[in-house]
Amino acid sequence: MKTIRSMILVSEDEKSNRLGGRELFQSLQAALQEFDLQEEVAISTITDLGRQDALPMVVVYPDAVIYGPVTPADAHFLVEEHLYKGRIVERLLAPAPETSDNASWLSARKGALPAEQRIVLQRAGRIDPESIDEYIVNDGYAALGKALTEMSPADVIAEVEKAGLQGRGGAGFPVGRKWGFVAGAPGNPKYIVCNADESEPGTFKDRLIMEGDPFALVEAITLAGYAIGAQEGYIYIRGEYGLAYQRLKNAIEQAHAYGMLGKNIFNSQFSFDLHVHAGAGAYICGEETALLESLEGKRGEPRSRPPYPTTHGLWGKPTLVNNVESLANVPPIIRNGARWYRTYGTPSSPGTKVYTIMGQINTPGVIEVPMGITLREVIAIYGHGMKPGSTFKLAQTGGSSGSIIPAALQDIPMDFESFRKAGVSLGSGALLICDQTTCIVDLAKVLLQFFRFESCGKCTPCRIGTQWAYETLVHITQGQGQLSDLDSLPKLASQMEMISHCGLGQTAGVPMRDMVKNFRAEVEAHIVQGTCPAGVCPMKAPKGAAKKSKRAAEHQAAQQPAG
Ligand code: SF4
Repeated sequence: MKTIRSMILVSEDEKSNRLGGRELFQSLQAALQEFDLQEEVAISTITDLGRQDALPMVVVYPDAVIYGPVTPADAHFLVEEHLYKGRIVERLLAPAPETSDNASWLSARKGALPAEQRIVLQRAGRIDPESIDEYIVNDGYAALGKALTEMSPADVIAEVEKAGLQGRGGAGFPVGRKWGFVAGAPGNPKYIVCNADESEPGTFKDRLIMEGDPFALVEAITLAGYAIGAQEGYIYIRGEYGLAYQRLKNAIEQAHAYGMLGKNIFNSQFSFDLHVHAGAGAYICGEETALLESLEGKRGEPRSRPPYPTTHGLWGKPTLVNNVESLANVPPIIRNGARWYRTYGTPSSPGTKVYTIMGQINTPGVIEVPMGITLREVIAIYGHGMKPGSTFKLAQTGGSSGSIIPAALQDIPMDFESFRKAGVSLGSGALLICDQTTCIVDLAKVLLQFFRFESCGKCTPCRIGTQWAYETLVHITQGQGQLSDLDSLPKLASQMEMISHCGLGQTAGVPMRDMVKNFRAEVEAHIVQGTCPAGVCPMKAPKGAAKKSKRAAEHQAAQQPAG
């Protein structure tokens, strides 16, 4: 029997699988057999470590060499060269992240740069996400063990409150306080529901948490169940997240087998069971009350509030609804204490935040950074600057219902308090970075197209308002807009915010509002001059002279002095 001397980890996530990751894994296995290395080289899977540009990725230990992207056709050569002959395959090495000229600001700040700090993603990419043994030897179940043997449910809630953890789903509501509401609500049984219906376009951080460290979420929900007095929980997961779904099912099965779920966990009086439910693809089911309706087997439409789910949730019983990232913060807090947690982030927004960063930057991916970092820092340090030739124009923070902010606001600390003061939403944690080739009107049009499609139709302001706004934006992109649109669109956004039934309609107007507030001149150029400064809209300006629309000509005529 030979001893293991090396280990190959192959990225396994939705994107890697789409690009042939599974075939790559099989080809590597076959190559190891061919070179008779199967007993000396272990092979397993990891999540992608946030390097979206290098997928499918292969990491070889103990050398810690990262290859990517790697195709199944490369597998034989990689095994022969690196594992058999001990030579690194230069041509397959993952590219060093580029840093463009417009990140020169970075060099001025070197030495004082905030590093990525992983609390939620601490194990993702480092352990086999399908092995409870690996989870346990990496601090797994230490928090639940501590809670069940040393702490009362009230102690757990108090510790989470002291840590200052705020909900990471967008609203930033204090997690411990919400737990306290459910624990104190009359009625039994109580339920806990994990909102894993991550459907904001561009947001996939929860998917990576679930794919990379599924046991952590299972432990977190069990802990929450203990704290609020629930014996049953549900994970409502986005239907398209097939791999995360499988890994959670596997994690639940293994937790049962090890006595971490089921009756008398850790030989205590506490019993808890957990189920995974896959959604059917409706964006609105990410809204907590629509999610509960869906979980009860009904059409996914939001409920009227009050009463709130904390008192009247699943099947009318007190229910705690938390999102994946909020829950995943809890085991580290219980394990290390609230004081430790508060050493991360800012006094008003402790801890870290997981972001997906994408758009016109050199390195898109997933990062976990302390609360309070600025957008400029995220672009320069983790995005490795804008792509060559790109100039930062705007960012959308928080997915389609988030804010659209101009370059002038990129130095606001990204924490709940600072963003709230600036009237910006932190949202789901998706950062879409756009350059000068993005047209603000076109962007708003695409977002409204999404909202009008996803509106459940239950209330008029949202159903009619999203359609009307979309049509108006289409007209503007075609050179048929009117100057009065600059007043009517923000007004519609305010009305939708005030009288729509749920968060979808309340935030659907944000793109129009931010468009007019932050990029008025660009919208006016479409309406008055009949040109699209970014060169995106159908009536884009010919080189040299600006083409005038009929409406622009009328406007200009109206400006001429009479007589
Ligand atoms: Fe449905 Fe939109 Fe009304 Fe929400 S705001 S209930 S999504 S129609």
